[in-house]
Amino acid sequence: MDTVRALGGDVYEIDTRMAGYSGITAGYLILGSRPCLVETGTATSAPVVRDALASLGVGAGDLATVVVTHIHLDHAGGVGDIAGMFPAAEIVVHEKGARHLVDPSRLMASAKMVWGDKLDVLFGSLAPTDAARIRALGDTGAIDLGDGRTLSSHYSPGHAKHHVGLIDSFTGDLYVGDAAGVYMPETGDLRPATPPPDFDLDVALASIALFQDLGPERLLFSHYGPVDDVTSILDRSAEELRIWVDLTKQARSEGLDLDHAVAMVRDRTKDRYGALQNADERAEHFEMLSGAPSNVAGILHWLDRISPPGPDHP
Ligand SMILES: [Zn+2]
Repeated sequence: MDTVRALGGDVYEIDTRMAGYSGITAGYLILGSRPCLVETGTATSAPVVRDALASLGVGAGDLATVVVTHIHLDHAGGVGDIAGMFPAAEIVVHEKGARHLVDPSRLMASAKMVWGDKLDVLFGSLAPTDAARIRALGDTGAIDLGDGRTLSSHYSPGHAKHHVGLIDSFTGDLYVGDAAGVYMPETGDLRPATPPPDFDLDVALASIALFQDLGPERLLFSHYGPVDDVTSILDRSAEELRIWVDLTKQARSEGLDLDHAVAMVRDRTKDRYGALQNADERAEHFEMLSGAPSNVAGILHWLDRISPPGPDHP
């Protein structure tokens, strides 16, 4: 599979090859007079991204902006390395994520608790970025792409409290990050991504509604690639969230522990996804990016927050 794919409108998809895998983590370059990279991929992706940008004629001094939809390591783990490789680039991130890019120690410590020994292989280590290079976004913001073209950011929490969607004034492309779930182009599957500790159903649904209201021409998923069928895939995003939440609520009301809740939800949802019909590499990737254990744990964490378990629900 090629690393770089032209998507039209001066937009290029870059396979950032998380942990060496193809087709699971995408970054995007918006070329033009002020080139902008959307998502860096992981720290170990940085040399792949640098070479991809070089192949598009973007050298060390040429990149104007790096923006990340949120600071999870599959999206922003490479920010410190990319900032070092492209010293002229401004780094743009939601204000709730900015301090973690300056001092990644807490973010890396919590990732280590989740991933353990797999952390180094999957993500590498997020290097710190000089605070002077970072611009923090509020509820909305704008990135100058040059030639009158703008990338506008819209705060879209639910998956993560530091998540933004980004819409291109020229193409109508909406960079959805993980707020609309994980899309598998090979099978057309869409599965929610509801990890702890930030997942909140109502907030996530509001972000999907916001995306609908923006009226994008096309969605660009970080996992993975472009989707033209905007309205129906966003409807599907909302439907998938409700299904996973309903099943997790049911498991919780039956008093299942986490392992049994995961098994129940996985079993009841697996027929929905073509990618899970065979125990192949695709199924493994799907599990890695929006795994049932992480999704169910995130939903349970949210349920415990809004209605703490009582004596009936140990
Ligand atoms: Zn992700």
